[in-house]
Amino acid sequence: MNSEYDYIVIGAGSAGCVLANRLSAPDGGSVLLLEAGGNSRGVRYRMPLAATKLWFDPRSSWSFWSEPEPGLGGRRLPVPRGKALGGSSAVNGTIYNRGSPHDFDRWREAGLEGWDYRSLLPYFRRIEAHWRGPDLWHGGDGEVPVTALRYPSPLAPAFLEAARQMGIPVTEDFCGPQPEGIGLPDVNIDRRGRRVSAADAFLRPIRSRRALTIACQVRVLRLIIDQGRAVGVEYLAGAERHRVRARREVIVSAGAIASPQLLLLSGIGSADELRAQGIAAIHHLPGVGRNFNDQPGGGFEFRSKQPATFRRHLRIDRFVLALAQWSLGLGGPAAGPPMVVMGAWRTDAHSRLPDLRMMVAAATMQSKVWCPGISAAGEHLLGMNFAVAHPESRGSITLASADPLTAPRIRYNLLSESRDIETLKKHFRLLREFVRQPALAAVVGDLTRPAPEPASDRELDTYLRSIASTTAHPMGSCRMGLGDDAVVDGQCRVRGLDALRVIDASVFPTQISGNPHAAIMMLGDRVSDMILGRPPLASNA
Ligand SMILES: Cc1cc2nc3c(=O)[nH]c(=O)nc-3n(C[C@H](O)[C@H](O)[C@H](O)COP(=O)(O)OP(=O)(O)OC[C@H]3O[C@@H](n4cnc5c(N)ncnc54)[C@H](O)[C@@H]3O)c2cc1C
Repeated sequence: MNSEYDYIVIGAGSAGCVLANRLSAPDGGSVLLLEAGGNSRGVRYRMPLAATKLWFDPRSSWSFWSEPEPGLGGRRLPVPRGKALGGSSAVNGTIYNRGSPHDFDRWREAGLEGWDYRSLLPYFRRIEAHWRGPDLWHGGDGEVPVTALRYPSPLAPAFLEAARQMGIPVTEDFCGPQPEGIGLPDVNIDRRGRRVSAADAFLRPIRSRRALTIACQVRVLRLIIDQGRAVGVEYLAGAERHRVRARREVIVSAGAIASPQLLLLSGIGSADELRAQGIAAIHHLPGVGRNFNDQPGGGFEFRSKQPATFRRHLRIDRFVLALAQWSLGLGGPAAGPPMVVMGAWRTDAHSRLPDLRMMVAAATMQSKVWCPGISAAGEHLLGMNFAVAHPESRGSITLASADPLTAPRIRYNLLSESRDIETLKKHFRLLREFVRQPALAAVVGDLTRPAPEPASDRELDTYLRSIASTTAHPMGSCRMGLGDDAVVDGQCRVRGLDALRVIDASVFPTQISGNPHAAIMMLGDRVSDMILGRPPLASNA
């Protein structure tokens, strides 16, 4: 590593990988990308089915826990966050979609010039190599392969038909003109069945680029601010502390939890809170760590009347065959998430935004590999997972200590606003009705969780609060906006300081109705043009 670069990017996640790629291009400059995790090589990272093995392993995840959640009876929630090249995209579920156009249009309506969907669509298209080929809605020669699920569940047609019977929209393309409804997901999986994280897409193909230096296992401790300008960072490599200088900009892309933590550790945040931790306030910016939010989710599980769930792949001989098939690059059941259908749509006719997100899982947490004569086969079970797409509840990221190696305090305040729990209850009832549609009569058996079914509104409330969790889409803790409570402006520049930007999920002012990886990569791409002074791509839809 040199002691000086044009740009220092902290965090090689969904946003950081795109930024490192774009800023080290010939019209950019020298870039140092600092990542606390390892290089995300190996089968567990590449095999989509193995994703769950990464979520709670400290080698691949930060393994954070929330504070006790008041709306959930004091339960603490696990907070899986990727810690590797690729960040959370190296461990995620590989589902690719963009959310609803209205998610972005409302950013523009809040005064954020150029953040409406029409202006952003060319950036989504620029990063994509979409299996549908290039057209007005999809990109053809971008870095990110977007493929169709190669082995859709045989149960999917029945769920799609049930949606039609209930008047729920069915979509064939979450990235097309009708992104709302129930359908089959697109995924970031290549033709050989390998996960393609942001690092696989944006870093590995350019690893010999001289302008780009990538350093793994390097933990940034704080930003160095000199007279209102970010001039470098201090980091830990092994047991040694070092400093490196940025000639042009420092870019914080450490994710919705670590980015506000790094600002706070560097004296950027609420002056009172910083003082309480014994940190000198360099810049009073009270919005840092506020507006933190994630989507509250619930679920129920039921027996499948047909032996067609993921269990059929879990008998030991079949499972070994699936692993061999995947190893040979032939795809198979290990080459995708075990999913039947997913969806997002409006249950409130007066709203523009989808409020319900759902996914039917072909397996549950009880699903296990089994061996005849040694372990029991288990039942054919399906899981219905659902979430409130646009919650009102807001939490916070604050410092537990001035020690940069101590985890921050993570408070979701999930279901603290009554509208969120009422919406979650509404979703439960609606989806129970959905699985009772005639098209599913030969598929959906008894409810196994919750059992017995909650009989009253109060019982349902208690049940949902006892199981609710998040969709692992934390956002908003360094909000982009115009007011005094915003942390960054419409170009992701930290308000009131020079040469410092935050570019990752933490700047999203509000949730999006879909899975966020696509939108976060788009954000990195869009802001890289701003940094390099390029004109915005022309909108074409
Ligand atoms: C279990 C799980 C499943 C998901 N499934 C999906 C899905 O199917 N589809 C989808 O679209 N989205 C999914 N998501 C969400 C999506 O992957 C994330 O929202 C997205 O990757 C976040 O991008 P980011 O750039 O904001 O942060 P991250 O990708 O989290 O990147 C932040 C990076 O910064 C590094 N870092 C943090 N602190 C420091 C420090 N002090 N020094 C150096 N480096 C640091 C981290 O190690 C990490 O690599 C999932 C997320 C999880 C956790």
